Amino acid sequence: MKKCIDLHTHTTASDGSMRPAGLVMHARNSGLFAVAVTDHDTVDGLAEAVAEGGRTGIEVLPGVEISADYERETHILGYFPDGEYTGIEEVLKQLKKNRDERNPKIIRKLNELGINISMEEATDEAAGSIIGRPHIAAAMLRKGYAASIQEAFDKYLAFGRPAYFKKEKLTPGESIRAISGAGGIPVLAHPLSMGFGAYKLEKLVGSLCACGLMGIECYYVDYDSEDRTNLLRIARTYDLLATGGSDFHGTFKPDIEIGTGRGDLRVPYECLDMLKKATIKK
Ligand code: AMP
Ligand code: ZN
Ligand code: FE
Ligand code: FE
Repeated sequence: MKKCIDLHTHTTASDGSMRPAGLVMHARNSGLFAVAVTDHDTVDGLAEAVAEGGRTGIEVLPGVEISADYERETHILGYFPDGEYTGIEEVLKQLKKNRDERNPKIIRKLNELGINISMEEATDEAAGSIIGRPHIAAAMLRKGYAASIQEAFDKYLAFGRPAYFKKEKLTPGESIRAISGAGGIPVLAHPLSMGFGAYKLEKLVGSLCACGLMGIECYYVDYDSEDRTNLLRIARTYDLLATGGSDFHGTFKPDIEIGTGRGDLRVPYECLDMLKKATIKK
């Protein structure tokens, strides 16, 4: 059997349901050879994940996924193959502040709409991690205001819905520079999820390469073999590393399994090999 890995997962440090140690153990028990922890805008889960990797013998790659603003929300993954990620913390602290300023606006708006949930209830759902819209959605679910997390987003929290509020973000270029400045490898996450056509996507990739982009996520839970072929072609054209992962969130996205996604995802170990061999442009 081919050695497989997962380079895109979320823990309780952001909006996943598993603690970092539990997720690493789960990855190992699922037969994966390596796992990257890439929580949204935080590295808080990495120390625990790396320690568990050392204990259980699965390779753990420290990472992060920064939510950036382009025309649509664009996510930039950062990987720290030499294990040193503290350089990114300052930037992440500012992003946390921006989120902390936005959340109460959402709660206030929901209250105006007759949905009686409090900041405390959302905080409880987050259980110590960064508080985001998924936790607000979970609080709504718990109190019977929505039948599912997805329904809470579709009716209230998603872009264009009544309780949506923008939070200040970095641009993709700024995110890339922040990651490489901190000694990491910047990678464009789920490039097809922004809904851009082929021409626009390549234009974006070209401009991000000028900012120091080093990789593109080619293997991803929602992408079929045609998507993958197209993305691997873009990777070759722009001399980018190909990466991949499931975007595992535990029970918060119950149909997605670590490593295999919805069943057919396989991320070859070579992706990690290439990543580790890459020279980081500081
Ligand atoms: P936040 O960073 O607090 O704005 O929350 C962003 C997270 O909310 C994303 O990582 C997703 O997990 C989730 N999310 C964003 N938009 C949607 C949507 N339309 N439907 C379901 N989940 C979403
Ligand atoms: Zn997430
Ligand atoms: Fe993402
Ligand atoms: Fe993700």
